[in-house]
Amino acid sequence: MSTFSPGSTTVGFIGLGVMGRRMALNLKRAGFALLVHDLNREAVTELVASGARDAGSIAGTAEADLVITMLPDTPDVEAVVLGEGGLAVAMRPGSVLIDMSSISPTAAIAMQSALAAKAVAMLDAPVSGGYQGAEAGTLSIMVGGDAEILERCRPVLEAMGKTISHIGGPGAGQVCKVCNQVAVAINIQAVAEALTLARKNGVDPGKVRTALLGGFAQSRALDLHGQRVLDGNYAAGFRVTLQRKDLKLALENGSVTGAALPATALIQQLYGVLANTGRADLDNSSLALLMAEMSGLSGEAEP
Ligand code: NAD
Repeated sequence: MSTFSPGSTTVGFIGLGVMGRRMALNLKRAGFALLVHDLNREAVTELVASGARDAGSIAGTAEADLVITMLPDTPDVEAVVLGEGGLAVAMRPGSVLIDMSSISPTAAIAMQSALAAKAVAMLDAPVSGGYQGAEAGTLSIMVGGDAEILERCRPVLEAMGKTISHIGGPGAGQVCKVCNQVAVAINIQAVAEALTLARKNGVDPGKVRTALLGGFAQSRALDLHGQRVLDGNYAAGFRVTLQRKDLKLALENGSVTGAALPATALIQQLYGVLANTGRADLDNSSLALLMAEMSGLSGEAEP
């Protein structure tokens, strides 16, 4: 079977939010024809202005050779794939679905089997790298599913990401993503606590961040989220709601597999506090706001 190459492949794209719109634009730039759909008409109009075609519906995207979904949560992907007028009915035998949303590994496995019964292949291919990585086309893409299908899809994935890792069979990409979120969330909490401690000592958190970036505490979270804390910039980015959802997926998985995730459970609760106090749509770095409040500090990062 042939590889999906630019120039000869039309990609259907459903979900043009913070991530999807940037990923779709990179596909367009790489030379793929695009057929797009989103519930948000403004997002569709923006992509059409950049040369994509409006698919008009979920089923409309199934005219493409391959369809990508980049949706918020498991029920959204299930509705688009298995719901009425969904991809499971609309997609042609021999075509491929790549779900790049972060969803439940179990649901990903179930959808791969449902589609296989209709001779439609599916990869789970969630991403890490944030909107910055989506914009730059440097995402890390974690793939679960058939290795041969991945090879056919590689040029498509390479238009959006720099590191493409085949983790294993169906669902393995999603397992990798929840592992990623556990590591990221604990790291963000570590940065939030470290900078709060600096502030409580009257020490400049900016100088602390710079010093730490040169030592063992160096991390992408310290670099990017630490800078957000200093700037008081909590505009998403990666929303609290989505991070909370990802940690819920990790905890559900841990409860089934028996993995001990005590720090993840604590941080999921902290994201719950943010969500319950009107801050669900802030960036996930806003854990620092909560730590500041719990320490009797203002949200501003000055010492
Ligand atoms: P988002 O909420 O900004 O975008 C989702 C888009 O899907 C929206 O435009 C929405 O209108 C659309 N949508 C929802 N239901 C739909 C439906 N039934 N039919 C058509 N369109 C529908 O979310 P995002 O930040 O782009 O994240 C998407 C996925 O990627 C999530 O699973 C998230 O966890 C993951 N992710 C996000 C980031 C990030 O930094 N934002 C990073 C890595 C992974």
